[in-house]
Amino acid sequence: MHRFSFFSCEEKRGWGGNINLTVRGITFYYDSIKALKDVGFELKKGEVLGIIGPNGSGKTTLLRCINMTLEPEMGTVLIDGRNILEMDRKEVARHIGVVPQSPAFSFPFSVFDVVLMGRTPWLNRFSWESSGDIDIARRAMEITGTLSLAARPIDELSGGEKQRVIIAKALAQQPEILLLDEPTLHLDINHQLEILELIKKLAKEKGLMVVLVSHDLNLAARYSDRLLLLKEGKIFSTGPPGDVITEEGIREVYGVGAEISFNKRTWSYIVVPLGSP
Ligand code: ADP
Repeated sequence: MHRFSFFSCEEKRGWGGNINLTVRGITFYYDSIKALKDVGFELKKGEVLGIIGPNGSGKTTLLRCINMTLEPEMGTVLIDGRNILEMDRKEVARHIGVVPQSPAFSFPFSVFDVVLMGRTPWLNRFSWESSGDIDIARRAMEITGTLSLAARPIDELSGGEKQRVIIAKALAQQPEILLLDEPTLHLDINHQLEILELIKKLAKEKGLMVVLVSHDLNLAARYSDRLLLLKEGKIFSTGPPGDVITEEGIREVYGVGAEISFNKRTWSYIVVPLGSP
């Protein structure tokens, strides 16, 4: 039996509790390459943090350090004050759902099977999914609009459909924290908006904490409550989008001039790169 029902948990943990994520002083090397230096932030229930920065600035490495796929040389990740190094993989997966860049499947699993895999961290070693798990998977598919795809093989879906299925799988884990690595890569603009609207809605309505890596400054600025701009593995600036998306910041970090404006219809900052400063 599962301890709480999907999307209605106002008790204990899950999307009802006052959980927060604290990332402190993360430093990580790939052999001699320093990929991250002293990176940290805090995230509260319902917040979306956008991680931006040029290629190679450490965005993906940071996500991997947060869910301990990579173990940092220094630094800690605390979920509600608890160090995730004290948790085993399964427990980490009950707190943190990951939507990786272009996940590949070795077998043409059905969409339903893929989403149900999200329940694995909640299963005992020798147990099968219960009707409760199936209900949770179904609910995750409803929320992401993938229920009608349930019987389809995952490898036959379009990029946008597949991305929604991967998000459904992550939601079936019932995490408090969702890490997304370039979730709109390879998607056309209507699907980009659809995915990011969904993510923002989950954060606002369900209290999910979201860390969103994006190379798209305009989308990141539009859908994040706060941004963290990385330059060569270090935090260059962090704060509300208007504080981070500045002409000086873009010039310093990306080496290009840019015109920044505020769009009142999307209520967000828009960056137009102008070329070499
Ligand atoms: P981003 O996601 O911002 O493009 P990454 O986190 O992928 O940046 O990379 C940060 C730095 O670490 C870069 O200098 C990159 O070349 C290096 N790096 C990333 N992955 C590896 C790896 N597997 N082995 C060695 N160096 C790596």
